[in-house]
Amino acid sequence: MKINIIGGGPAGMYFAILMKKADAGHELTIYERNGPDDTFGWGVVFSGKTLATLRTADEPSHTEITRDFQGWDNVDVVCRREKISIHGNSFSGIARLRLLKILQARCEQLGVTINFRTEVSNIESLRRDCELLIGADGVNSTTRQAFAKQFKPNLSVRPNKYIWYGTNQLFHGLTLTFRETSAGVFAAHSYKFNRTTSTFIVECDPQTWEATGFGAMADDATRAYLEKVFRDDLNGHSLLSNNSKWVNFVLVKNAHWQFENVVLLGDALHTAHFSIGSGTKLAMEDAIALNESFAATRDVRAALRQFEAERRPVIEDYQAAAYESMLWFEKAARYVRLPPLELAFSLMMRSGRVDREELRKRDPEFMAQFEDVEAYRRRANT
Ligand SMILES: Cc1cc2nc3c(=O)[nH]c(=O)nc-3n(C[C@H](O)[C@H](O)[C@H](O)COP(=O)(O)OP(=O)(O)OC[C@H]3O[C@@H](n4cnc5c(N)ncnc54)[C@H](O)[C@@H]3O)c2cc1C
Repeated sequence: MKINIIGGGPAGMYFAILMKKADAGHELTIYERNGPDDTFGWGVVFSGKTLATLRTADEPSHTEITRDFQGWDNVDVVCRREKISIHGNSFSGIARLRLLKILQARCEQLGVTINFRTEVSNIESLRRDCELLIGADGVNSTTRQAFAKQFKPNLSVRPNKYIWYGTNQLFHGLTLTFRETSAGVFAAHSYKFNRTTSTFIVECDPQTWEATGFGAMADDATRAYLEKVFRDDLNGHSLLSNNSKWVNFVLVKNAHWQFENVVLLGDALHTAHFSIGSGTKLAMEDAIALNESFAATRDVRAALRQFEAERRPVIEDYQAAAYESMLWFEKAARYVRLPPLELAFSLMMRSGRVDREELRKRDPEFMAQFEDVEAYRRRANT
């Protein structure tokens, strides 16, 4: 089968790898606007469960991905002078660039063609040229725009601002830090992803952003300002910029996922707020699900329909959890007033995916402490 893929991110490359593995006779071409070493951002995270799925799908790339992974099992919640650690949350981090290099090498090994520095603008001609066209071209997908009538996308631009930095301060665990300033509350999402670097995403509500005057502030001044806000947390390290800019999170949904011989994958198809750290996982699991549909039938339209039918409920479930988590961070200014243990508990419960019993299983000591405080307050209020 002749397959054209727009976008050489995790979704596009992983799908190409799996299809080529399934049948070396497939002719797969990826069109990627960037060069092989260009990337945005810093690290991405995977849960232990996702890693098991990736191992089953493609052992060689899994071996490389896990070779220099940085793992942890704690979520640390930092507010004022307190740090609360909640254990039993197994995650690992890897540099996005390292992940892309591993997938590029695997594509090359299997005979997938990647045309780097190739911007696709005429989607229709690429579609006519193949039996299957994959739109894996990220959150601002040109494929989705070109076929907006067929996909009927729904894009919701959220109010909070965020900016994605790195730092050489190592955060051993997913660390959620809240700092109050005279302008408002800043939240940082941070975790190490190699031996020397951590991701450090700063988020704030639009009122805080306006009050600080970030709109008129130069990049270096923005970095210096945030280094001051998080001075106690960065331990003397600076924030590292990768052309980092303030952006708003865009929640992407599509009423239809496929038509005729075209399908969307990854961020082009759906986004989930970065606070549950699953964008790359979902992109790669989309690739696995689509590949499985082609294992069941060679009929392109039937395979695409099956992919949508099976994958949509899984994605909707994730998006619902990520939505709750996103709302929590949009209202963070309210929650930071809570005493630290209650703040940590509220954070752990925010997506609705973890209940008390699950939390008790993960970290009985934390739950016991929290329930002691809860019982004390109840007694004090009666
Ligand atoms: C602040 C932030 C933090 C995040 N944190 C995490 C995290 O911790 N864990 C995690 O798993 N995920 C995280 N993500 C999400 C993750 O980056 C994406 O979800 C993931 O990369 C999606 O993969 P993709 O292949 O669908 O899209 P992308 O990785 O965006 O790849 C799309 C590719 O298509 C190319 N392209 C686009 N248009 C064209 C065109 N017209 N022609 C040619 N090429 C084109 C682009 O250059 C790009 O390489 C985060 C995202 C953000 C913004």
